[in-house]
Amino acid sequence: MKKETVIEMRDLSRKYKSKVAVKDISFEVKRGEIFGLLGPNGAGKTTTINLLLGLQKPDQGYCRIFGNDSRKIRGEIYRKLGVVFEEKNLYIRLNGFQNLKFFADLYDVKHDIIYQLLDEYELLDAASRQVKTYSKGMKQRLLICRALLNDPELLILDEPTDGLDPVSLRIIHNSLLGLKKKGKTILLCTHYMEEAERLCDRLAIINKGALIALDTPGNLKKSLGEEILEIRIEPAEEANITVIKNILDSGDMVYDEKNKTILLPLNSPGIGRKIDIIKEWADIISIHSREASLSDIFLKLTEC
Ligand code: ATP
Repeated sequence: MKKETVIEMRDLSRKYKSKVAVKDISFEVKRGEIFGLLGPNGAGKTTTINLLLGLQKPDQGYCRIFGNDSRKIRGEIYRKLGVVFEEKNLYIRLNGFQNLKFFADLYDVKHDIIYQLLDEYELLDAASRQVKTYSKGMKQRLLICRALLNDPELLILDEPTDGLDPVSLRIIHNSLLGLKKKGKTILLCTHYMEEAERLCDRLAIINKGALIALDTPGNLKKSLGEEILEIRIEPAEEANITVIKNILDSGDMVYDEKNKTILLPLNSPGIGRKIDIIKEWADIISIHSREASLSDIFLKLTEC
């Protein structure tokens, strides 16, 4: 059976004055998918969400939610949506329960749902405490509870787990997987690769506003080869990396600057000679082989 298209974007572009934020982005999200929007800071993820929700207008192209143009979203479409924005807009002087009750009453939702959500998100014990006493993870869980009050068909989350503790991560991840099981659709913006790999059916990687890859996590990993050689080096100076890159002339080489590590697929042509060249220009601290990860793909695709 053909699955319903919940989100559709076509040739979506948006500039802020001369700054390109989103450029020619096209993708579809089907009912029941967890779809990841991945990109480094400033890649254009939040702008894409704002365009999708009709909060900003595209310069070119269009997006649709449940078949409706985002610029003309009306009440019945909003009722099918749950959104968790990056900023934590909770009423911090109210307690957790009161925060949810305020919105439950707006949506005309029974208070039983509030208790169910507080229980699922392990916030029942803190429900009568002012939100200003909550940890970052608790606030984020409460925001997600709020977005789920109206039992939305589509949940949109912008960086929901940024800097959270492992307990909050576990609770949020399990809940999202549970929602998927119920047939809900989720659009998840994140820059955490492990999270994307664990949760998402498909991923769109965006960089500098453009869509640079769109596939399942498994297929994206295959595109870089099954195994990766991780070569930790101590370059005498940064220029050596440029020299190494130029001599190797190897499109499959990635340099992870933070960890001072060169990554090469194990099946890269002439791998022995490549290692000799690296030795000439840097001190090799260690060499390991391991399975390719989504982070490798991300580094390779977003490397400037
Ligand atoms: P982050 O993960 O840091 O939130 P992002 O992927 O969500 O980043 P956006 O916030 O969509 O990226 O920003 C995309 C680009 O547009 C960035 O270069 C940003 O500086 C720029 N930008 C965003 N909002 C505005 C604005 N109101 N005015 C000017 N430039 C903006």
